[in-house]
Amino acid sequence: MRAEIISVGTELLLGEIVDTNAAFLSQELAALGIELYHRTTVGDNEQRLRQALVEALSRVDLVITSGGLGPTADDLTKEVVAAVLDLPLVLHRPSLQWIEEYFARMGRKMTASNRKQALIPEGGVALPNPNGTAPGVFVRKGEQIVVCLPGPPGELMPMFRSYVRPELQKESRGVIRSRVLRLCGVGESELVERIGDFLAGQTNPTLAPLASEGEVRLRITARAQTDAEAEALNGELEAKLRARLGLLIYGTDEDTLESVVVKLLKRRGETLAVAESCTGGLLADRITDVPGASTVFDRGVVTYSNRAKMELLQVPADVIEAKGAVSPEVARFMAEGVRRVAGTDWGIGITGIAGPGGGSREKPVGLVYFALAGPGVSLVREEHWSGDRRKIKRRTTQAVLDLLRRTLLTDQECPARRRLAFSLPPVFLAGGFFIWEKKL
Ligand code: ATP
Ligand code: MG
Repeated sequence: MRAEIISVGTELLLGEIVDTNAAFLSQELAALGIELYHRTTVGDNEQRLRQALVEALSRVDLVITSGGLGPTADDLTKEVVAAVLDLPLVLHRPSLQWIEEYFARMGRKMTASNRKQALIPEGGVALPNPNGTAPGVFVRKGEQIVVCLPGPPGELMPMFRSYVRPELQKESRGVIRSRVLRLCGVGESELVERIGDFLAGQTNPTLAPLASEGEVRLRITARAQTDAEAEALNGELEAKLRARLGLLIYGTDEDTLESVVVKLLKRRGETLAVAESCTGGLLADRITDVPGASTVFDRGVVTYSNRAKMELLQVPADVIEAKGAVSPEVARFMAEGVRRVAGTDWGIGITGIAGPGGGSREKPVGLVYFALAGPGVSLVREEHWSGDRRKIKRRTTQAVLDLLRRTLLTDQECPARRRLAFSLPPVFLAGGFFIWEKKL
C-alpha cells in the first residue's frame, strides 16, 4: 500500500505552526509498513486543496488529510473530499448528537455552523472524536481510501491510534510490531561500530538507530503473520543485543532515564536528594515528572551562589576559595551536604560552567563536575560538553541520572560491598571510598 499525506492550513504555510501531525503520521505509516510517497501542505483554499487531492489520488491508494474539519467557512476539507470523490455530504446523526452534548457539557451555545461538522461523505465512516467536536472520516472509493483527521494534535493522534491504525493494519497483509531499546552513555557512531554486524545483516526484524540529545534509540521492527510471531522475532534480536550491549541499555519503549532511576530507588526502598548549580533545577524537574516520585525523592535545592552552597549545604568556604566553585571537591561537598541535610540514602551535587561567558583556559565553558554520594559510594565525574546553556544542562542531567542508574544496578549486583561499607567507620568511608574518575 502506498500513501500520501496532505496537511491543510494557512498557518502551516506561514510558518506559524510546525507540521507535527505529518511527522507523527509518517512514523505511524512507516511502522505499518505502508510506503509514504509524498507530503503536501496547502492553505485553506478550496481550489488548491482540490488540486492536491486529485493529484494524490492519481498516484496512491491511501490519502490522509490533517486539518480543516472545524466549523468555520475556511474549514473545507470534507467538502472538497466529497466533491473530488463525487459523493454527497450527508448528516451523521450520532455525530450531531455528540456535538450537541459536547456543547451542553461545556455550557456553551452551539451555533448553526457546528452542525456542518456532523456532515460526512456518503458511505464513509465517521470517526468519533472524544477530544473535540469534529468527527474524522474514513471513506473508500473503489480501491482507494481517504482519511480526514482534525488538525489539533491532541485530537488527531488518539483518533489515528484508536480507529485508523487498526483499520489500516487489516489492509496491509500480516502484522508489524516494533519495540525500542533506549541507550545512554554511548554515541551513535560508537554504537553503530559495536553492532555493525547486526545492522548490516538484519532484514526481519529490521534494526534502526536514532540519536537524540544524550541518548540513542534502537528500533526493532518485525513483520510476521501474527502478533505472537512478530513479538518472538523482536524478542530474539533484543536478547542478542542485550547480551552485546549490557548496561548501555537503560530501558525500552516509553521508559525515560528518570523513570528508570525512580523505579530502581523504589525497588530498593531508598531516597534521593539533589543539589544543583548550573542545571538550575532541571534534574529535580525531570525526576518530579515521574508519577510517584515522592516516595523516593526528598528534595532538590538550587544553590547557585557560593553563599547558597555554604549556607544550605555546608560546603566549606576555604574549599570554594582554594578550588573554585566549579571543582570536583565542591561537587562532592554538595552531594554529601545535601545527603546529610536531607537524611537521604543518596545525594547528588552538580556544578559547572554553562556559558556563554564565565569560562577560562583551565575551566572552559561546558566544564561540569557532578558527584554522587551514597551508602559506601562517593563518585565524582568530570565532563566537557559543547553547545548552548540548554544543551549543557540537558546533557548534564542525562549523565547524572545515568551514573546513578549504573551505580544502583551494579551495587545491587554486589551487596557485599554495601555490607562492607556499613561495617566501616564513617571517617574511613569519607576518604577511602572517594573515587574520582572520568568514566565508570
Ligand atoms: P478546529 O476545529 O480546531 O478548527 P481543524 O480540524 O479545522 O480543527 P485546523 O483549523 O486546521 O484544524 O487547525 C486547528 C489547530 O490545530 C491549529 O491552530 C494548530 O494549532 C493545530 N494544527 C493544525 N494542523 C496541524 C499540523 N499539521 N501539525 C500540528 N498542529 C496542527
Ligand atoms: Mg479549523
